[in-house]
Amino acid sequence: MSLLSPSMLDARFCPRCSGPLSERDLPNEDRPRLFCDHCGYVFYRNPKLVAGAVPLIDGRIYLLRRGLEPRRGTWTFPAGYMELGESAEEAARRETVEETGLEVEIGPLLNVYSRPEVGVVVIVYCARVVGGEPLLGPETLEISMFSPQDIPWDDLSFPSTHWALADWVSRHGSASGPRSTAISSGPPAE
Ligand SMILES: [Zn+2]
Repeated sequence: MSLLSPSMLDARFCPRCSGPLSERDLPNEDRPRLFCDHCGYVFYRNPKLVAGAVPLIDGRIYLLRRGLEPRRGTWTFPAGYMELGESAEEAARRETVEETGLEVEIGPLLNVYSRPEVGVVVIVYCARVVGGEPLLGPETLEISMFSPQDIPWDDLSFPSTHWALADWVSRHGSASGPRSTAISSGPPAE
């Protein structure tokens, strides 16, 4: 699943009656709301939730290179939009399998990161790799393991990626170890 496309949803039509929505100052509301004059429906716009995991094994973490815009080609941990009906932990585990092929045991919450400028809240868990094999998902260019000192800080996908990995490093210290061989989707085609 793609991560962090702008979600400041500007709906134009009422989801209940298909009438036009317009911004109105309503009683008891502290900001303008999208309102349907036909049926009185108020269309609340709320942040989208993203769940992710930092998969750890033997002192190193798996990161992936995004295959989709925005920020195609940059590195992040597996993460994506939550689906209705799943918990944040379930979403983090599902996204990790989809994007990396790795089975993880979701551990403690790393932190929660708000990005109000794009209407997204990112929930990130520590995770331990318990199975699976690194496998490129359809939206992943490359998967690689990184020691804390090898994290590509200048080539990360989003501010929240940076914040979460900085928190992860400060929590887990600086284990050592060489960077592994990456698996990749082939020679660069661009
Ligand atoms: Zn309506």
